[in-house]
Amino acid sequence: MNIAIDGPAGAGKSTIAKLVAKEMGSVYVDTGAMYRAMALRMLNLGVNTEDTAAITEASKDADISIRYVDGEQRVILDGKDVSEEIRTNEVSGLASVVAAVPAVREKLVALQQKLARETAVVMDGRDIGTTVLPDAELKIYLTASQKERARRRFVQNAEKGLPEVPMDYLIGEIAERDRRDMTRSVSPLRKAEDAVLLDSSEMTIEEVVSAILKLAEAV
Ligand code: C5P
Repeated sequence: MNIAIDGPAGAGKSTIAKLVAKEMGSVYVDTGAMYRAMALRMLNLGVNTEDTAAITEASKDADISIRYVDGEQRVILDGKDVSEEIRTNEVSGLASVVAAVPAVREKLVALQQKLARETAVVMDGRDIGTTVLPDAELKIYLTASQKERARRRFVQNAEKGLPEVPMDYLIGEIAERDRRDMTRSVSPLRKAEDAVLLDSSEMTIEEVVSAILKLAEAV
C-alpha cells in the first residue's frame, strides 16, 4: 500500500509521514530532499538560478539517489551524503525555484516512481497525489494556517538554538514559498480530488497520525 502526503511547507508532513511509515512498516520517502539536493548542486556549480536553460543543462547529469541508514533517509548528491547540507535557509528558498523547472521534475519524479514500485512507501511532497503516485491507495493533503506554520518554525529555530527571527519575517517566507509552489505551471501544489484534507492547525502530532492510520485501515 502506498500513501501520498502532500501539503505546503511547514505543515508537519515529514514528522507525520515518518511516524505513519514506522507504524505501517513501510518506507518513508522525503521527496523535498531530492529537490533540495538539486538546488545544492546549482549552488555548488555556481549556476545562475534565474536562467531556466542553465538549470536544465546542469540537472542533466546530476546523480541524486537516496539510501537508508538505520532506517533514516540519506540523500546522496554526486557521490556525497548531503543530508545535513540541504537544510539551510538558502537551499530551502532555492529548492522551490529549481522545482519549477520541468527537466528537474521529470528526472526526480522518475526516481520517486521507481522507489514506489520497489516497496510500499509513505511519500511526502507537493505533487505526490496528483502526479507521482496518482494511484496511491490513500492520499492526504495536510495543511495548517500560515500563522501556525510560522509559529512552529519559530519554536523549532529556538530549539535548535538559532538566532531569533521575527514571526512576521517567518510568515512572509512561508507565504512566498506557498506562492511559488502553488502558482508554478508544472505540477503546482494542490489537493488531489481524491485526497483527504487534514488541517493540523489545532491537532497534535499524535492526533494527525492516528487519523491517517484509521483512514489507512479503512482502505
Ligand atoms: O518539503 P521541502 O520543504 O523539503 O521541499 C523543498 C521544496 O521542494 C518545496 O518548497 C517545493 O518547491 C519542492 N518540492 C516539490 N515537489 C515535491 C517536493 C518538494 O516541488 N514533491
